[in-house]
Amino acid sequence: MNKIKRALVLIVALMMAISVIGCSGKTEKADATSQASPTRDEAGLYKLPVVDPKPEKETEQTYDVVVIGAGGAGFSAAIEAASQGAKVVILEQESVVGGNTSLSGAGFNIPENWVQKSQGIEDSVALFKGDTMKGGDSKSIEPLVDVLVNRALPTAQWLRDTVGVEIMDDFQKHFGGHTVARALVVKGGVGSQMVYKMYEKAYELGVKIKVNTKAEELITDESGRVIGVKASNKSGQELVFKGTKGVIVAAGGFAGNVEMRMKYRPDLNETVKTTNAPGHEGSGIVMAQKLGAGTEQMEYIQTYPFCFPTTGKIAFVADTRMYGAPMVNIEGKRFINENDRRDMVSKAILSQSDSFGYMVWDKKIMEEARTLEIYKGEYDKLVADKLLIEANTLEEAADFFGIHKEALATTIKDYNSYAEDFITNGTDIKVADKEFHRNAKMAKVENGPFYIQKVIPGVHHTMGGLAIDTEARVLTIDGKVIKGLYAAGEVVGGIHGTNRLGGNALTDITVFGKLAGETIIKDTK
Ligand SMILES: Cc1cc2nc3c(=O)[nH]c(=O)nc-3n(C[C@H](O)[C@H](O)[C@H](O)COP(=O)(O)OP(=O)(O)OC[C@H]3O[C@@H](n4cnc5c(N)ncnc54)[C@H](O)[C@@H]3O)c2cc1C
Repeated sequence: MNKIKRALVLIVALMMAISVIGCSGKTEKADATSQASPTRDEAGLYKLPVVDPKPEKETEQTYDVVVIGAGGAGFSAAIEAASQGAKVVILEQESVVGGNTSLSGAGFNIPENWVQKSQGIEDSVALFKGDTMKGGDSKSIEPLVDVLVNRALPTAQWLRDTVGVEIMDDFQKHFGGHTVARALVVKGGVGSQMVYKMYEKAYELGVKIKVNTKAEELITDESGRVIGVKASNKSGQELVFKGTKGVIVAAGGFAGNVEMRMKYRPDLNETVKTTNAPGHEGSGIVMAQKLGAGTEQMEYIQTYPFCFPTTGKIAFVADTRMYGAPMVNIEGKRFINENDRRDMVSKAILSQSDSFGYMVWDKKIMEEARTLEIYKGEYDKLVADKLLIEANTLEEAADFFGIHKEALATTIKDYNSYAEDFITNGTDIKVADKEFHRNAKMAKVENGPFYIQKVIPGVHHTMGGLAIDTEARVLTIDGKVIKGLYAAGEVVGGIHGTNRLGGNALTDITVFGKLAGETIIKDTK
């Protein structure tokens, strides 16, 4: 009898596996994202499918939980709620999932993480909290920061062990403003690899993912409780998605909405490009505000210093600064601690005579940053766009951009002597760098080939957004809970104060995304 039972279980498991893994061996998706199967590119990176619009059979559908936005926060919330048995749908307005999470450099700060332990780096939750508060000029809402820092490590373990996100076990990033290197990096060094694993896990748990479907309005019952979302899709349908347990807004920030950002920062007009993916218009904030939701710290908007001057997109190749590369101006002189806070570095770049910065490094620094291993595609694009030059001598590289080469030679000579003091004599880095007191690594720029990359700041992160309590429930202007409404990710305000530290967003969105999924289930048990 037992044998028959075991055989039956095996057959059912096999049939389930076949329905998930198609005969070709590729993962087939049966819902709205099914029309293009995800694949890996030549470099072995997962590619998220871009999906053509497809009409819905039912224009009104009922779920337990409706999530708005298929970025890291939305997926984390959906996975957690679905793991607890809820029937979940994610609405995504674009034709591909992932949002900014997908574009990200996939570095996220986790204190006391396993890579730190293997590298002998001492860290603590308290140190991480201190850095985060300081980085935001102590304007962060402290109870929210407590949630962020205390849940960081368990959430990273959940991402690795439950969601299946692949994380490098021998590589970390040291983002500006952090006392120690504490940023884990997802394999492949790009956020789409994190999203892909989230997408797989969500699918495995039966989460429905409706791409090309834009949430337009929140629906409430007569008591004011949020019970669903009105949406429209690219097939021209008007849709209703009911959520018997409620709605989680995870629609990202508003860096792409020039009018909205200028309301709070008039200087960030249309001439300043954005690093963001399309679809970051702040519609999640506006929808909730229509129900009386409060906002926090909308005026705090971050620019990212190291972007493509042509498009405003982030240039990860400039991460060489974390491995020792200095930055100069067109006059060939350094002008700031390259690893300082993003707002400070951005401001400094824009106040140079031509409003550009020029990162300078050599072969050894590039090897340590693993630039060609992780960011080869971007490197090639920068070279093709004449935004990066490789040359045998520094003079040749300087000439390419018209940088004052004698001044550059002096700058690099001085910088190398500071690096020497730091490396050979073990002098404290901030003391060794006599001019700008770097807080991340210094290395000599001495052996060719040499590289110079031209950079400019772009609008990157909106720290302001919806007011939430410490369990991700959306609050009114008076601080009361809006029943049935939860929010997580960049759509939320108050966690990062005036300035989000690098690598703190992915920690934020996964911590609060998972938490929103937990709370919506807990509140409706
Ligand atoms: C280029 C780049 C690099 C970055 N690198 C890092 C990094 O290395 N480390 C780090 O910590 N942070 C990084 N960040 C910041 C971080 O990626 C974002 O803050 C974070 O991914 C936001 O996650 P989210 O889930 O809140 O929003 P997103 O990932 O942006 O997802 C929101 C989704 O909601 C969708 N949406 C919006 N409105 C609607 C609507 N009305 N209906 C339906 N869908 C809607 C959007 O299309 C989008 O897909 C980076 C950001 C960028 C742009």
